[in-house]
Amino acid sequence: MSGAAKSILVTGGSRGIGAAICRLAAERGYRVAVNYASNAGAAEELVAEITAKGGDAFAVKGDVGSETDVLAMFSAVDSRFGSLDALVNNAGIVDVKARVDEMALSRLERMMRVNVIGSMLCAREAVKRMSTRHGGKGGAIVNISSVAAVLGSPGEYVDYAASKGAIDSFTVGLSKEVALEGIRVNAVRPGIVDTEIHASGGQPDRVERMKGVVPMGRGGTAEEIANTVLWLLSNEASYATGALVNISGGR
Ligand code: NAP
Repeated sequence: MSGAAKSILVTGGSRGIGAAICRLAAERGYRVAVNYASNAGAAEELVAEITAKGGDAFAVKGDVGSETDVLAMFSAVDSRFGSLDALVNNAGIVDVKARVDEMALSRLERMMRVNVIGSMLCAREAVKRMSTRHGGKGGAIVNISSVAAVLGSPGEYVDYAASKGAIDSFTVGLSKEVALEGIRVNAVRPGIVDTEIHASGGQPDRVERMKGVVPMGRGGTAEEIANTVLWLLSNEASYATGALVNISGGR
């Protein structure tokens, strides 16, 4: 990368898809802020791995569903990097398989707070720093949605699917709102990707079990998602904004 190194914040960057995004961003020359919620060990391990390869990364703890944590996280990025060029709203959760008529209010509130409000709070803070309207030099945001937004995930987690539907609408709306302010906003909709998220929803074998419903006959890798995210952040995607890109093996 020519000129000063760009900086990136990846929420939920310590494991799974987020970690693959952090690794690839570091390889492409970004200085990387690796956000995590509670597992400091995984975040520090990734930072050590990136640093050992000559990259610049640091770990920053924070629940994206907490405004206090989000403000502290962006302050930490300001102190460390001075400015922010890219945000990936990747942090996201699922819950155990359930029908809507079985879902408690606490589950619904947690799902929307982390997946939807978390992404909106982080985007708000990023726009304040990137927008030419606020004296910034522009930037790019990628939101991690899911093909669940279109499939609906009946009998499994309609709440999660609806949270990703909100991410799609948010991506389209925000992209138009800041299009003349130097910021591009896009979303990637992964299909079934081999990460620990499935075990966290009580289905550790989900990728193996579901691969038959994927036209390409396999789950995707976190790296395959990261490749698209880094492309959307790059100048190669300079005319892409408001795009919702399915990376789902045809599903
Ligand atoms: P994962 O393996 O479960 O990793 C989740 C990451 O997010 C971890 O770094 C975790 O930190 C962090 N995190 C969780 N809750 C957080 C919070 N409240 N605030 C900040 N960070 C938080 O998940 P993944 O499979 O990589 O999924 C990443 C994104 O892709 C999610 O938005 C997910 O919905 C989306 N997606 C995944 C798939 C799939 O099949 N895997 C498919 C479609 C979309 P800790 O380590 O501290 O817990």
